[in-house]
Amino acid sequence: MKADPQANRLDFTGTRFLQSASTLSQCPQDNADEVAFVGRSNAGKSSAINTLTDQTKLARTSKTPGRTQLLNFFQVAEGKFLVDLPGFGYAKVPPEVKAKWQKQLEAYLRERKSLRGLVLLMDCRHPLKDFDRMMIEWCAQAPMSVHILLTKSDKLKSGAKQKALLETRRALAGYGDMITIQLFSALNHEGAGALKGRLQSWLCPPVLETDEEVEAVEAASGNVNIENIKSPN
Ligand code: GDP
Repeated sequence: MKADPQANRLDFTGTRFLQSASTLSQCPQDNADEVAFVGRSNAGKSSAINTLTDQTKLARTSKTPGRTQLLNFFQVAEGKFLVDLPGFGYAKVPPEVKAKWQKQLEAYLRERKSLRGLVLLMDCRHPLKDFDRMMIEWCAQAPMSVHILLTKSDKLKSGAKQKALLETRRALAGYGDMITIQLFSALNHEGAGALKGRLQSWLCPPVLETDEEVEAVEAASGNVNIENIKSPN
C-alpha cells in the first residue's frame, strides 16, 4: 500500500493545555508521542508555540506563576503532545530549584519513551550559547533528535540570516542527522510550514517503503529531511 502524505495530518490549532508536572512520575502515561520545546529565556518559545497553534493564550499559560514548573503538557490530538519546558529558560528561580529541575530534565530526556524529539529555540542573532550546547550534548548522549529553530529571523536581512543558518549548521555538522536546523519568525511566519512538517514527522510518522514515498512526504513537510524515519529494511 502507498503512503498518503496527507493522511493523519495534525491540526495544531486545536491544541489545548493538558497538565503540568514537576517530576517524571507526574507526567501523563508514557505511551504517547510527544515533542518537547526548550530555549533560553526570551528565545521566542512562547511566541513560536502561539504561532504554531494559532492561539495567544496557550503559551502565555506557561508563564503563569505555578505553571513555571518542569514540564507543561499540551495535547494536539489523542496521544499527541507538545511539552513546554518552561523552567529551563526561566531566570527567576533559586539555584537549588534549578539544580533539582536539571536532574529531572536529564531523567526526562533519558527515560521518557514517548519523547520523539526536542525543539531547541535560539535567537538567530545569538545562537549556541552555553545552555544550547549543554542541551545538544544531553540529546547526543540520550540519544535524542533535535530540531533547532533560529528564531526572530525577521530581525536580520536575507544575507545575514542565511549566514547565521549556514554557520550554525557548520558548527553542528559533527552531529550528523541527529540535528536539523531552520530559520523561524513568529512575526512573519517564516519557517512555520517547515516546523509543522518536522513535528508531523515526529508525532505521526508515516511508514515509508520506497524512496518515492520518502520524497513525497518530504515535499509535503516543507522540505524537512525525514531520511531518519524511513522504515527499517
Ligand atoms: P520566551 O521567553 O522564549 O517564551 O520568549 P517570548 O516568546 O516571550 O519572546 C520574547 C520577546 O521576543 C517578546 O518581546 C516577543 O515579542 C519577541 N519575539 C518573539 N518571537 C519573535 C519574532 O519572531 N520576531 C520578533 N521580531 N520578535 C519576536
